[in-house]
Amino acid sequence: MEITTSQELKKKFGIEETLKRLGISDINAGVSTGTEWFDCKGAVTESYSPIDGSLIAKVKNADKDDYEKVLVKAQEAFKVWRKMPAPKRGEIVRQIGNALRDAKEDLGKLVTLEMGKIYQEGLGEVQEMIDICDFAVGQSRMLYGFTMHSERPDHKMMDQYHPLGLVGVISAFNFPVAVWAWNAMIAAVCGDVVIWKPSSKVPLCAIACHNIIQKVLKENDVPEGVFNLVVAKSSVMGDNFIEDKRVPLISVTGSTAIGKRVAEKVGARLGRTIAELGGNNAIVVAPTADLDMAIPGIVFGSVGTAGQRCTSTRRLIIHESIYDDVKNRLLNAYKQVETKIGNPLDENTLVGPVIDEGAVDVYNTAIAEVKKAGGTIVFGDKVLEGNYVLPTFCEVENHWQIVQDESFVPVLYIMKYKTLEEAIELHNGVPQGLSSSIFTLNMREAQTFISAVGSDCGIANVNIGTSGAEIGGAFGGEKETGGGRESGSDSWKTYMRRQTNTLNFGTDLPLAQGIKFDL
Ligand code: NAD
Repeated sequence: MEITTSQELKKKFGIEETLKRLGISDINAGVSTGTEWFDCKGAVTESYSPIDGSLIAKVKNADKDDYEKVLVKAQEAFKVWRKMPAPKRGEIVRQIGNALRDAKEDLGKLVTLEMGKIYQEGLGEVQEMIDICDFAVGQSRMLYGFTMHSERPDHKMMDQYHPLGLVGVISAFNFPVAVWAWNAMIAAVCGDVVIWKPSSKVPLCAIACHNIIQKVLKENDVPEGVFNLVVAKSSVMGDNFIEDKRVPLISVTGSTAIGKRVAEKVGARLGRTIAELGGNNAIVVAPTADLDMAIPGIVFGSVGTAGQRCTSTRRLIIHESIYDDVKNRLLNAYKQVETKIGNPLDENTLVGPVIDEGAVDVYNTAIAEVKKAGGTIVFGDKVLEGNYVLPTFCEVENHWQIVQDESFVPVLYIMKYKTLEEAIELHNGVPQGLSSSIFTLNMREAQTFISAVGSDCGIANVNIGTSGAEIGGAFGGEKETGGGRESGSDSWKTYMRRQTNTLNFGTDLPLAQGIKFDL
């Protein structure tokens, strides 16, 4: 098992050339308004690779003055950007999509290096960015409002969507590039300007994104301040950012704890929030499930990205008649996975490291809590080396506090059910409501699961796992997952301000509801 990045390996994967092509140097400015980089005066963040703990590069953070300058630039840029026809904004996003296509391998590799997900997933994440660009280009011609028939003669009613303003994007470490793109590309075609605060665990990915789009912005004379990046600690980009009335929408992706704080602060000023928070995603495995499909779906969901996706499979609710069979198959699968843990840059690896020591602690704590509550560890329970842990699955009871909480590591909880009603109750019996799935060939069960009395999650799937989603759908979840929706479908509407218009093209002034008001 190769779990350290030797110099040879770095050479083999061309890391230095990749960093160079992405414009990453030993020390980087962390603030940009598009093509201009600031000479930042704040603290310095060091970015270490979870692969082997080595320093990749340093980033100079914004201080409060830098933040202020960015805000002013963004406000100025909005006045210009909102007037550009939406399809023209879409054309710029189309070119950004192409720039991302050209940089896909390099950016995917940097995602792997800085975040630790396997290279295939790093590439997949960049593909999501490209896909959302394509989607946003089409959307730029479809920012549809309605027309309504007025109750008054010679009147016309309609609603329209206008650009909203400055959109703050706070992103989590586990999707260091895609979450920005989901928000920024849709916001951009809607006529908004974006201020991105990435996770301090993965600032280089954010800097690389800004370097990649820079050429497109220059070639199209996009004003400085449309796409902004601010790398900073929470003392600079914390409460002051979310309380800033100049930012009407904050889109936050992160833990429920952070999301609650953001929602409270933004809510207090009656701003708008898109909250994309923690999940506690479950798969129901019904008696008729095609286990040849279910097992790979479960394993990808639970061990993929080392259990660090918001949609990772955390709980498995298995019908009692097939419980032992599923458990044994899972055991075999986890044993195979064990042989494929290692350097995520290596194409044979299926599971890379978790992000940092803190995540290793979360892994150890989760397992200790399961044992304390009386659970059985079926497989796993081992820190291998550094940030590498053995994916684990355990038999538990749903109501235990540790099962109710999201532990953002590869620990899967399994439990039994007798009736579909009971399975749905267990399924919904957690505070979070992001992704869910049922494996069944029984049409009644499938339909019930996605009906009003079924899964209470924002995403409910049949015969595919919980992990990952296509950009075309509205992405997000209910309850403590925060209720936000982003990416596809009609999520764009949250990035715009809605206005209802009534036009009178007649010669009288009739009042609504037939009110008489004769002067
Ligand atoms: P986190 O909550 O620790 O951090 C999220 C972001 O919030 C980071 O950029 C962080 O710097 C920022 N932040 C922290 N304190 C802040 C403050 N006071 N003000 C403003 N911003 C602040 O989350 P994480 O560890 O980076 O990511 C993992 C979590 O994110 C998991 O709970 C996961 O489920 C969730 N997540 C959810 C989705 C989704 O779409 N639902 C997607 C990815 C990750």
